[in-house]
Amino acid sequence: MNATTAPRTTCRVLTARGKRCTGEALDPDPKAIQICQRHAAEVMRLVTDRKRAPR
Ligand SMILES: [Zn+2]
Repeated sequence: MNATTAPRTTCRVLTARGKRCTGEALDPDPKAIQICQRHAAEVMRLVTDRKRAPR
């Protein structure tokens, strides 16, 4: 594996089997959260659900 030379930043989310998501990160900045559009949308939905219905 030689991921350091990858031309683009990929999503860091792990799939069910422990594999890395192959989606392209929305923000290539190493200090930013590296997550693809699809997973970002899932996280947003999760946060909204938690806020709306605490416990
Ligand atoms: Zn992803």
